[in-house]
Amino acid sequence: MIPFFDLKRQYKSLREELNVAQDDVFQSGMFLKSSKTKAFEKSFSEYLNIPHCIACASGTDGLELTLRALNLPRDSEVIVPALTWVSDAEAVLNIGLSVKFADVDPRTGCITTETIKTHLSEKTKALIVVHLYGQMAKMNDLMELADCHHIYVIEDCSHAHGAYNANGRAGTFGHTGVFSFYPTKNLGAYGDAGAVITSDEAIAQQVRLLADHGQVRRDQHKISGSTSRIDELQAAFLEVKLKYLDRWNERRRAIATYYTENLKNVWTPSISEGHVVHQYVIRVREREKMLGHLRKHELGYAIHYPAILPSLEPFFEENWKSSYPVATDIAQQAISLPIFPELTDSEVENVVKIVNSFI
Ligand SMILES: *Cc1c(COP(=O)(O)O)cnc(C)c1O
Repeated sequence: MIPFFDLKRQYKSLREELNVAQDDVFQSGMFLKSSKTKAFEKSFSEYLNIPHCIACASGTDGLELTLRALNLPRDSEVIVPALTWVSDAEAVLNIGLSVKFADVDPRTGCITTETIKTHLSEKTKALIVVHLYGQMAKMNDLMELADCHHIYVIEDCSHAHGAYNANGRAGTFGHTGVFSFYPTKNLGAYGDAGAVITSDEAIAQQVRLLADHGQVRRDQHKISGSTSRIDELQAAFLEVKLKYLDRWNERRRAIATYYTENLKNVWTPSISEGHVVHQYVIRVREREKMLGHLRKHELGYAIHYPAILPSLEPFFEENWKSSYPVATDIAQQAISLPIFPELTDSEVENVVKIVNSFI
């Protein structure tokens, strides 16, 4: 059996370091807003080469905190990809703004200037870009268009920790970059956690206030906020894991490159430099039959994502199929194959053999 994903393997190699980190926190008696949080925020902003990092309770919170911090007019519209995790649309609706979905590029699954153009209106005030599966969207073009129309850009980097293009890392192009450290992400905590990064000092201050009851200092509340913090244990664990992120991403890229070079008769993604391959997603027209084949050979798989957002009840649009044909096609054909740094070479070879033996 080849598992789709297995965090226990990674724990084996990190056990001692994590135990030390955990013991440090327990010994300190400090579980929130203390030295481990500050240290991780500093390390992560240095890694990304950006001035501000505000750790928070989850990626979804990071999106919502950013949107709140921007203080947009009540009738604002925010453009969100039709093919992504629900958080991107939820964050917009949760603060009372309107979502406008955009179709995606057939090659990358990301939005492009072409796919968002028809959705721009006077009311468009922000754009959430998702670096789907770990591949960076075309940020230079998107930023140019956004600047032209005076709209904010939020990069959802939940699949793209450490991804880069010639001009920098994912998250450093938009007005903010938002990260989830959900356990299965390329950089994952042992529970929920997230972060917002930005080079805009005013946005950074506002996000920090919103995430901690609007407190400027203890008992001095400037605005109405909420509780959205990372805890010291998660920050300490992430600090341990951050050191290995580039190495892990390289291993993911090597596995993905092998898949793309050797898989036959299925659509495979191209693995560019800077792609951190959070998911390796092939496309198969006869998906149900292929899934039966994978189950028969005990090869783990997942589907990212089986339904596009405008087809789901909270975001429903009557004409979702015809409005977002590319996203719909991908959702109907996508199969995510095992991709994590601890897969062995022989497992990787077997994945290829099993997929290629499908007729
Ligand atoms: C995981 C994920 C999030 C948010 O994750 P949380 O579980 O809230 O930390 C947001 N967007 C995408 C694309 C994700 O995959």
